[in-house]
Amino acid sequence: MPGSEISREIYWNVTAFSVVLMYLLAGATIAVFTYGFYRRYRLWRLGKPANRLDHVMQRVAAFIAYGPGHGRTARDLYPGLMHLLIFSGFVTLFIGTLMIMVQADFDVQFLHGQFYLFYSLFLDVFGFLAIVGVLMALFQRYVVKPEYLYAMYYDGIVLGLLLANLVTGFGVEGLRMAATELRQGVAWAAWSPVGYVVAQPLVALDPGALQALHTGFWWLHLLLALAFIAYMPYSKMLHSFTSPLNTFLRSFEPKGQLSTPDLETAETFGAGRIRDFTWKDLFDGDACTECGRCTAVCPARSTGKLLDPKLIVLDLRNYITRHERGLLAGRDVAAGDPALPALVGEAIPEQMLWDCTTCRACMQACPVLIEHVPKIVNMRRYLVLEESRFPREVQGVFNNLENRFNPWQLPHQQRAAWAEGLDIPTMAETKGQVEYLLWVGCFGAFDDRNKRVTRALAKILKEAGVSFAILGSEEKCTGDPARRIGNEYLYQMLAQENVETLNGYGVRKIVTQCPHCFNTIRNEYPDFGGRYEVIHHTQLLAELIAQGRIKPTKPVDEHITFHDPCYLGRYNDEYDAPRYILKSIPGLRLSEMAASREKSFCCGAGGGRMFMEEKQGARVNQTRVGMAQATGADVIAAACPFCTVMLEDGITGKGLSEQMRLRDCVELLAESLGEAQAGGSGAG
Ligand code: SF4
Ligand code: SF4
Repeated sequence: MPGSEISREIYWNVTAFSVVLMYLLAGATIAVFTYGFYRRYRLWRLGKPANRLDHVMQRVAAFIAYGPGHGRTARDLYPGLMHLLIFSGFVTLFIGTLMIMVQADFDVQFLHGQFYLFYSLFLDVFGFLAIVGVLMALFQRYVVKPEYLYAMYYDGIVLGLLLANLVTGFGVEGLRMAATELRQGVAWAAWSPVGYVVAQPLVALDPGALQALHTGFWWLHLLLALAFIAYMPYSKMLHSFTSPLNTFLRSFEPKGQLSTPDLETAETFGAGRIRDFTWKDLFDGDACTECGRCTAVCPARSTGKLLDPKLIVLDLRNYITRHERGLLAGRDVAAGDPALPALVGEAIPEQMLWDCTTCRACMQACPVLIEHVPKIVNMRRYLVLEESRFPREVQGVFNNLENRFNPWQLPHQQRAAWAEGLDIPTMAETKGQVEYLLWVGCFGAFDDRNKRVTRALAKILKEAGVSFAILGSEEKCTGDPARRIGNEYLYQMLAQENVETLNGYGVRKIVTQCPHCFNTIRNEYPDFGGRYEVIHHTQLLAELIAQGRIKPTKPVDEHITFHDPCYLGRYNDEYDAPRYILKSIPGLRLSEMAASREKSFCCGAGGGRMFMEEKQGARVNQTRVGMAQATGADVIAAACPFCTVMLEDGITGKGLSEQMRLRDCVELLAESLGEAQAGGSGAG
């Protein structure tokens, strides 16, 4: 069998001098590689501390699932398959090369017999699949050229080096087989199928020519492999190490929770210079594979705005790369160093930051779990709190939130006016002795369209015998819009006041009508000592239906499509409760949009965008209405007051008022319960 001959064949033409040279080159390569890695490490360390070493077992599980397991990469067929072929090919070839080096240099004979045959087959098949993967990548970048994948000059270098490594590897194998196994006519040659095919036309060459060619190809292959390894930490191929590591370093905080800085002790607010980011934020830039999936799903980008989530991550990476020396020497923008351009405003245009709806589609799509939204909000915090730079229309919202506790100039005392005639007790009246607090939210309390939903909800809860009360004029905006626009001061003020009120009544269970309030109270108020069992109204209603406490019996003859609110779905993983309600209503026909559940497309209101002008590109809400229209449905079902306002506006804006309507899940349920009139009577 071939095993005993391997060492000799591999080093067929290699003299002792060549071996020494090879190891010297390998040593130099490792030194260049290590230095490159060290340089990036020094840059990551410029960031602030962040604990990403807790939950070790969960981190290991995440690493296995999203790293080698390709959990998210594999979700999209073409790029998933492409990446899997390249990744598995290179891992297999790397391990195979190590094995052969150990055998050759340490004279440990384990590559022989049946094992060697399978080893040869494995390496050939995976090497060939890696070539297929690289060709797929080249085709995607240079022929298909999807808009989100703009090819950079280094993509060509990286893919070219990969391909050259693989092709020369098979060249070396083919030449060796032509001179040995094929000439000897041994039966096992076909166990290296690719080498066997490559060797066929070479058998005719005379042994001297084969030897010379083999030597040349062997060195070429070696030099290409070493060049590739040395280049890795200086190129996007660094992600081969950092991307899997990034999945290990993932956040285990609730998805909808932004960081809560201590405003009393903070020296600066938000992130306006490199040292204001955490080391993990900086690491993210090097973990990015530049696949563009985040950009492809971004509602701002796909409607023609400036924002590109991939660029946010890469701009940050490129900034630290470009200004490495200055940054490592302790300089930074906040020091007023004229040699460094401003990070926010110059390297990352402000408009990019204001375009974001914080919908989280980018983070959901990212195969390596990069965290875009916290970075964007942190830079907004810097602009608002340090620079007082924000869209001018937001100033009024800040003033109103501070003085009236709602985003409009509406009198705070009118907050419970929607409940007139419904006999709903307040917490003050019940002394907190109820099961649920119904958190109404600013839209549910003040917006005419949404007041109809609130009334319908309150009636259903009463009908079902749910024990609940409201805060009335004691309720204030949760602060969600302020926080996501970047006004952390205002948010913390509102959050503290609300938590004080809630804790004062001993509240334990809260049902909210608004997914934004739901997310903030559930995931962000614990930072202020507010720990409650918070559910969204669709969850409570689904529970009441399941328990038989309400029975939708009246048919509602509508063809509907459901729009998943970002802060209910992607942020809090609730996709089923609204659908359960809708499916419980007789007569309703539900068609899903292609962009539904975790792939839902934002209505355009989140992140404070509801209160900002949309000047560039197509309107996000109209784009979403177009998606709903494509299902053939004539009703869009909503479960969020922000979405209700935006999508109704989108229907009107698209001139579809005659064909389409928007109805909240609660309104549809109320109609099936015979409550439609009651719910609607509170309009206006
Ligand atoms: S959160 Fe949404 S709008 Fe913002 S960058 Fe990500 S995908 Fe785009
Ligand atoms: S941030 Fe994530 S999704 Fe976006 S390009 Fe980088 S790896 Fe791809």
